[in-house]
Amino acid sequence: MWDALVVGAGIIGLSTAYHIKRLNPHHRVLVVDMLGGPGRGNTARSVGMFRDFFHSRTNRLLAGSSVKFYMDVSKQAGLDLRMNGYLWILSPEEYRGIRGYLRGYEYRMYDGDELERLIGLNTSGNPKLGLPEVECGMLIPKAGSIDVKALVAYYYNQFLRMGGEARFGVKVRRLLLEAREAKGLPGEPHLWQDARVSGVETDVGLIRAKKTVVAVGGWAPVLMDRLGVECHVKAKKRQVFIVGARHGVLNRLVRAGGFLMEGYPPMFILPKFRVYVRPHPEKRLFFVGCSDHLGRPFMVEDKPRPEEEFYEYGIKPVLTHYLPSFSEAPVVGSWAGLYAICTLDHQPVVFEEADMIFVGGASGSGIIKADAVGRVAASLYSGLEEAELYDGRTMRVSDLGLRNRRVEREVFVI
Ligand SMILES: Cc1cc2nc3c(=O)[nH]c(=O)nc-3n(C[C@H](O)[C@H](O)[C@H](O)COP(=O)(O)OP(=O)(O)OC[C@H]3O[C@@H](n4cnc5c(N)ncnc54)[C@H](O)[C@@H]3O)c2cc1C
Repeated sequence: MWDALVVGAGIIGLSTAYHIKRLNPHHRVLVVDMLGGPGRGNTARSVGMFRDFFHSRTNRLLAGSSVKFYMDVSKQAGLDLRMNGYLWILSPEEYRGIRGYLRGYEYRMYDGDELERLIGLNTSGNPKLGLPEVECGMLIPKAGSIDVKALVAYYYNQFLRMGGEARFGVKVRRLLLEAREAKGLPGEPHLWQDARVSGVETDVGLIRAKKTVVAVGGWAPVLMDRLGVECHVKAKKRQVFIVGARHGVLNRLVRAGGFLMEGYPPMFILPKFRVYVRPHPEKRLFFVGCSDHLGRPFMVEDKPRPEEEFYEYGIKPVLTHYLPSFSEAPVVGSWAGLYAICTLDHQPVVFEEADMIFVGGASGSGIIKADAVGRVAASLYSGLEEAELYDGRTMRVSDLGLRNRRVEREVFVI
């Protein structure tokens, strides 16, 4: 019998397992995943960007502490952390809305003329596409890119070093719900019996544990709906298109100066629909994506596919309006993954029921917040009311729960 069984070896499951083991060195902790190794689910499909800039107090706390942790272990863990920043390109209305949240943040403003000169930005609007004109750019410096594979390896290796164990290629079919005092009746547990999640049924047999931690990202509804417990997390496809920048204007843009790191421009976020453009100067590429909502179904897919027409007719008109240099640029690749969206408020969810701990709903910023979310889940496992975060601040564990949830809705979801 394991003390803790963590289902899911994505960044959230790994961080949780690591912190459980750190807080409880003598507990036997096992991580299982249906894929062939750690971090191969949606964690492997992220674009590896991080920021500490959010609208809500909750996300500011979770991201702020996690980013500090990543910065401090970056050298030791080889995280290749680049503080190239996020450049939010804002319409007048967006700027008015965002201004109120800037207190306490470091930022630098750019006017339209500067952006035109530095990145060839077209600052006019396009009424036909409903695109607003650009008021300014706001550069957030405590933000950048991280090597997600290295972060996964860091948590995984630290976890193993502390004596944790992992098994891959193990698919959980269902969470085992059993009566604490079984009577041997057919169909147990019955409604009058005290039931608990006692482990999992997998394609290679049963695994029993005192506590079962469900950290399956976008797959959450598959296991949780079957258990009959609402976790308020649903999956939505997200797509990334790789645009080549080996030649011409884009070759200059991908190495544009005038921001935080010479030759390494920030991630650009365009007005209104928040089309994002992550430059990758070493590879001479851009990663371009956008989170669409209406018409994009909530759906769990094991192998979501990118849609050519989503780029061509959805993203490209917006992208090329503001950054005309992308007009002739070739798409040289693409991928898709799932966001695990918390439908309540776009905040992570961490709660316990019947010896099952659920952790998920990172809502598109799970890399950014993984360390702090793992600490909160591990604190819940350890019976603590307060989670001690890396940066010395604390968070009430129940704040991310469902019964006494105390979070604000996040609006800066990209
Ligand atoms: C296109 C895209 C771009 C993104 N960009 C960023 C970014 O720049 N920055 C950022 O912070 N976040 C980003 N994200 C979000 C980020 O990737 C996620 O928030 C994060 O990876 C979630 O981690 P997770 O551990 O919850 O989920 P996952 O990494 O998906 O892990 C869940 C694991 O559970 C396993 N599993 C599921 N069901 C079962 C089962 N029945 N049995 C056994 N194992 C199971 C899966 O195999 C998987 O390994 C992006 C996401 C996408 C899709």
